[in-house]
Amino acid sequence: MEKEILEKYKKAGEIAKIVREEGEKLVKPGVKILDIAEKVENRTRELGGIPAWPLNISINEVAAHYSPSQDDETEIKEGDVVKLDVGVSVDGYIADTAATVALSEEDKKLVEAAEKALEEAIKLVRPGRNINEISVKIEEVIKSFGLKPITNLTGHGLEQYMVHAEPRVPNYKSEYSHILKEGEVIAIEPFITGGRNYITEEDEDRGLTYSLVQVKPCRLREARQIIELMKERQGMPFSERWINIKGVKLKLAMRELKDRECVEVHRILRGDSKISQAEHTVIVLDEPIVTTR
Ligand code: MN
Ligand code: MN
Repeated sequence: MEKEILEKYKKAGEIAKIVREEGEKLVKPGVKILDIAEKVENRTRELGGIPAWPLNISINEVAAHYSPSQDDETEIKEGDVVKLDVGVSVDGYIADTAATVALSEEDKKLVEAAEKALEEAIKLVRPGRNINEISVKIEEVIKSFGLKPITNLTGHGLEQYMVHAEPRVPNYKSEYSHILKEGEVIAIEPFITGGRNYITEEDEDRGLTYSLVQVKPCRLREARQIIELMKERQGMPFSERWINIKGVKLKLAMRELKDRECVEVHRILRGDSKISQAEHTVIVLDEPIVTTR
């Protein structure tokens, strides 16, 4: 990996670590998740990064992809299990990291299992290692806590401006095989539950994020404005919060962008019981670098 690119990955990772930790401290009963999202995203920009996606704040049985909308009144409640998934881009070189805050004693084990599985997985990263060995270890640790991995959410590779690239990093023993190569960048992210071991996409229309995936001629001026605004993100997800168009005009513009398949909607992913997650980004080298730790 070129030194310049390595430095960008490292800078993104340093910023992501700082804002994740600051975000975790904000997770308390009665706090609006909209405030947490805005603080973390603003801080990311202040530190010289760009949010690679709107801060994801997924609570309890929601595994991933929830980010508060402009008018979101959701508050953290006593006993919630709150996952913060942070993305930071420096020129498209991404740091992807997540942590879970459990506000009740009984859910601390869920968090501990995710962190332990992640740490044990990271110890196995090196060039020449087959990812399936890492997957086996993750599952083994999770099961030692009497819990289950979510099987249809995996870790993944990262490439410039690409949040989900090859290879995958499954959280359980599977047929998937990939030999890690020097210079690959991977995000490892066990998702853990005591309930159903898979998530489904939710139909709901709140808390969504979007990616601009293709540019097509649009009828509405506001739709064209959104395209212009989001082009430079090169496909990285965005929130309606980041658009200075409000109310009906925004709704109609977003509808046209969806209908014309200019934007992809990232649906909220939900299980049937509380879910925890821990995630770091790792650069595969003889001495691997965990950019977000
Ligand atoms: Mn993530
Ligand atoms: Mn990830």
